Parts: sequence; structure tokens; C-alpha cells
Amino acid sequence: MQESRNAGCFPAQIKLAFQGWHESAFSKSSGLRLIFEFRDPIPAVRGDQMTNSGAMIVICPSCSTANRVPKDKLLAGGKCGRCGSLLFLKQPLVLTAANFGAHATKSDIPLLVDFWATWCGPCQQMAPAFTAAAGQLEPRVRLGMLDTEADQAVAARYGIRSIPTLILFSKGREVARQSGAMSATAIVTWVRQALPA
Ligand SMILES: [Zn+2]
Repeated sequence: MQESRNAGCFPAQIKLAFQGWHESAFSKSSGLRLIFEFRDPIPAVRGDQMTNSGAMIVICPSCSTANRVPKDKLLAGGKCGRCGSLLFLKQPLVLTAANFGAHATKSDIPLLVDFWATWCGPCQQMAPAFTAAAGQLEPRVRLGMLDTEADQAVAARYGIRSIPTLILFSKGREVARQSGAMSATAIVTWVRQALPA
């Protein structure tokens, strides 16, 4: 048994793994069983991520990993393949210099950013409206808030002169900008007008 395992396992192991065979099919056969007991499991059901047709890149709100998600599953509450977080939380995420680029440029989901600051009264007043807008716009659009005090470099890059300012990005490109507090309805209407269907 020892000899047959050493002599024959390697090619058989590779071939069977690619054919998707499972240990149970061989549990009663002598040498092959040992081979499969020592193997790592065949990569688990990553079929969704491998299906390119109609898939979109969605950045995880928690760990910023790029996930490939079939379009028809966007509404079904997909989870991040790395950390397990829900890909959409129905609320704005906290943007920083560290995750801004991933969400603004690497995602297939347009990004609406609220440039704000803690000392800004109108910003505070608009915050509930922005959260309500997230509930209506996700997963069509990702919403995030960037603290212009904490991340001044990002705010400077986009020439933010007054807050709150909303900027809508699509694949890294600014497609719309609006300054001043808005209601949830106004935010949703404005975004839907700005995005091509
Ligand atoms: Zn994640």
C-alpha cells in the first residue's frame, strides 16, 4: 500500500482533482484513500466568482476586497468572499484615504461621496437623509462619507471648498457634483438623473 501510494499518487491526484472527484468515491479503494486524506480540499464553491458573464466587481465595505458578483445576485445580499461581511449594508460606509481609491476606481458600482466634517451643522443635519438615501440607492450605487478634517488630502484632491459637497463617481470619473444640504428625496432624484440607465 505504501508503495502504490508513493508510486502512483501524484499524477492520479492531479487528474482526479481537476475532474472534481471526491474522496467518498474512493473511500473503499486501498491506495487512493490515503492520497485524498492528505490533500487539501478542492477549492470550495467559488463558482460565482469564476462566472464572468454578467458579473460585477464589488468592493467589500469592511475589508476592501474586490468581489466578483453576478448582477442578478446583487439584490440578494451577497457576502464578501474574504471576510464574510455583507457587501451592502444599506448605510453609508466610512471612507478614508486607505479605502477611497478602491471604492472610487476599482468598483463597478458608482460611488456617491458625502464630503463632510464634524463641526459642520448642515452636514450633521443632512446625515440622516444621506443614510436614508443609501437605503434606496444600494446596490445600484455605493454611498460613503469622507471626513474632510480627518482626510484633508482626499478633500484637497477634489477641490472641496464648501461642505457638505456630494460627488458622484463612476469608475473613477466624477460624473456629478452638488454642494449644500439636500433631502433624501433630492439626493435620490439627483443621483438617478446623473446616472445612465
Ligand atoms: Zn470583506
